Amino acid sequence: MNANNPAAPCGVLIVGGGLVGASLAIALDAAGVSATLLDAAAPRRDAAPSDEERNLALARATVNGLRAIGVWPHAQARATPIIRIHVNRTGDFGSARLDADRHGVDALGWTLPARELGQALERRLEACHTLTRLAPAELQALEPVDGGWRATVRTPEGIRTHEVALVVGADGTESFVRERLGIAAERHDYGQTLFVCTLTPERDPAGRAFERFSDEGPIALLPLAERRAGLVLTVPAGQAEEVAALDDAAYAALAQRRFGWRLGRLARPGRRQPWAIRRVAATRLVGPRAVLVGNAAQTVHPIGAQGFNLGLRDALTLAELLAGAEDHGAPALLEAYATRRAPDREGTMTMSHGLVQLACLPQPLLAPLRSLALLAFDRVPSLQRQLARRGMGFRGEPPQAVREPLP
Ligand SMILES: Cc1cc2nc3c(=O)[nH]c(=O)nc-3n(C[C@H](O)[C@H](O)[C@H](O)COP(=O)(O)OP(=O)(O)OC[C@H]3O[C@@H](n4cnc5c(N)ncnc54)[C@H](O)[C@@H]3O)c2cc1C
Repeated sequence: MNANNPAAPCGVLIVGGGLVGASLAIALDAAGVSATLLDAAAPRRDAAPSDEERNLALARATVNGLRAIGVWPHAQARATPIIRIHVNRTGDFGSARLDADRHGVDALGWTLPARELGQALERRLEACHTLTRLAPAELQALEPVDGGWRATVRTPEGIRTHEVALVVGADGTESFVRERLGIAAERHDYGQTLFVCTLTPERDPAGRAFERFSDEGPIALLPLAERRAGLVLTVPAGQAEEVAALDDAAYAALAQRRFGWRLGRLARPGRRQPWAIRRVAATRLVGPRAVLVGNAAQTVHPIGAQGFNLGLRDALTLAELLAGAEDHGAPALLEAYATRRAPDREGTMTMSHGLVQLACLPQPLLAPLRSLALLAFDRVPSLQRQLARRGMGFRGEPPQAVREPLP
């Protein structure tokens, strides 16, 4: 309740129950903040393995956060630790390696199929005490009222309205909330299509994740349970149809040519899912009694594996500020959120974008510089340490829930 105006709307409306909105709802429930979570899609308790082929690389900080809000126990049995990350560019001489043991940790992060994270969140949501959940329920309109917003929501039972002190836009890349707030978004089309699938390499990746850059676009391979690996292969958008039509053998051959033979023969590619790649960044994170989190705030190139990691830090920072606040939409609170998220957000977006731009530019003159940069990361201890900390998701002023003392 708002002590200055007891009649003012109260509570938080989270629009979008994707990975980030669901995480925020759980964190608010745990902190005793009254919230409503709505999603246009119905909850999926029965996702079959083939429904979602994405495999997420979760930074160490993310796993700390998921543990703190009680989600990780539902997911950890399906997760695989990343103990080494290897980065290089085809044709350049430099390469960089990050090793968990060199940085005094048991894992730099973990991989987890996206559907497993979705299921774990779903299970944890079912145990929430104070959260109100509406799904399917689509936000159709937002109007300002004294001390908050009136939201018009369409459900199968009919139209409902909610008056709330704070609206959180967790509604993804094409956020309705962002548009309704009049917040512009900067867009960049990478002209690339990304294919994700799971395959079996001849040699066990054994906890090693690989990122390779080439003129044709980046490729990443993540270690998974049962000796499988998650492959993320980027192709120029103009070749997407041709690649989508390849049979398994031809696709495995393409993956082999792009990835190389480091793990022996790449076999048994599973179902392939194409994704168009864009960068969409909101020019502001907050509006009057409204805030953006996750992909609604920033959608980044997936090859850096930063989208959910960044979005969870948005969600947990916001939950930390809302816990115990009298007025959930107070301008000072929202400004504090925007200020705290700025260094992490800008640093991560610049790194993701810059890396893809530099690593994919085919200018031969840049090759020695790229190689030197990779060698420097590999050999200079202070750079290594900085890169490792950032790679593990400890950047800017992280939310309390993700922190841990590192050696
Ligand atoms: C191929 C690929 C690989 C990736 N790999 C990684 C990785 O390894 N690591 C990583 O950290 N990130 C990764 N990402 C990024 C990550 O998946 C996203 O950043 C994250 O899922 C975004 O979650 P979100 O909840 O913000 O948005 P979304 O998942 O887009 O969820 C938005 C939700 O809002 C709902 N919604 C929209 N409009 C309305 C409305 N009007 N009313 C009600 N509900 C609405 C939608 O139904 C949806 O459920 C990857 C992305 C891709 C594409």
